[in-house]
Amino acid sequence: MRILIVLISALLISACSKTYDPLSGKEVYTLLPTEEEIKIGKMYVPLAIEQNDGRYPDRAVQNYISELGKKISKHTPRRLNYQFYVVNTGAVNAFALPGGFIFVNRGLILALEEEDELAGVLAHELAHVNARHHARFLEKIYGMNILLSVAGIFAYQTRYGDVLMQFGKIGAQLLSLKWSREHETEADRFGVKFAYNSGYDPRGLLKTFEIFKKLDKVKQPEWLLTHPLPDTRIKNVKKLISQLDLSKPLKKDSPTFHEIKEKLQKTKQSYELYYKAIEKLKKNKKIAALNLLNKSIQLYPDNNAALSMKAFLLLDEEQFREGTELAVRACRLDNMFFRPHFFAGYGYFKLKKYKESAKYLERARELIPDFPDVYYF
Ligand SMILES: [Zn+2]
Repeated sequence: MRILIVLISALLISACSKTYDPLSGKEVYTLLPTEEEIKIGKMYVPLAIEQNDGRYPDRAVQNYISELGKKISKHTPRRLNYQFYVVNTGAVNAFALPGGFIFVNRGLILALEEEDELAGVLAHELAHVNARHHARFLEKIYGMNILLSVAGIFAYQTRYGDVLMQFGKIGAQLLSLKWSREHETEADRFGVKFAYNSGYDPRGLLKTFEIFKKLDKVKQPEWLLTHPLPDTRIKNVKKLISQLDLSKPLKKDSPTFHEIKEKLQKTKQSYELYYKAIEKLKKNKKIAALNLLNKSIQLYPDNNAALSMKAFLLLDEEQFREGTELAVRACRLDNMFFRPHFFAGYGYFKLKKYKESAKYLERARELIPDFPDVYYF
């Protein structure tokens, strides 16, 4: 018993580490050291990509968001290797994972009108990461267990069990984190500063709020579900901005933003057909779904979400060769997209090409370890 107590307290002491709060510069005690926070965030990047129908397959769009994001993140105090991704979803949203992984939906860029609006949203997400809001959430919910869970997921990746259940549970919580009023106030306070310090007009965020409020009357932007926007919040942001010197030259827009938006505009219909196909499939109307997918792919041959879904339908109809080919094509467009890797692995298995099958299934398991069918095959 005494040994157990000694062990536990040793574990507690070693797990609780000292760190500097990047925003206040004060020393704080934390259960979740930065390296662990990054590990957790990184682990859930493929799950976030999967849930948002893959990354947008155009390299120029990804490069644009990376450059814009990195430009702003240079003006944040927390030195992390920030990563930015544009995902295929049409929902108006952006979100962050712990450790500095930031996601922007295709639908958000399409909804915005000028670059300072996008900069405002990115700066706000960067503020959540800089204020360690995700880490503080995990510490509060899991306490000591968070480190044990993460260690467990890494150690037992090859096995079924509670640990893998835990993987899905933490992931679901991280991907639908609803921020409190306090978190939002803090993220706005630092977000406005980050946007301003990186040379952007901080009023961009206010324009975004206006766009969201207008959209809200038709269909609530997903961003507002997790970042609530009461009128008091808008008032606070206005007050923050009024304290800044707005006479210095501030960037509002860029031609690149419009080039990128134009690219997304051109493929918009292809994605709309893809989402219509999903609706058909939910009603089990496979032929109608397949027709829509064919049109979708015709409009944008790189639409990796549509390619993956068509692969699934063909495999389901036992057209293994064609289905597998499409899945492989989708994998080439996004090597972090779980779905096509799983389908390619399944297709090759059916074609009795076991070596190829294992290669894709291994990759699928690397991406998302808790999907039981991967183990089966
Ligand atoms: Zn927020």
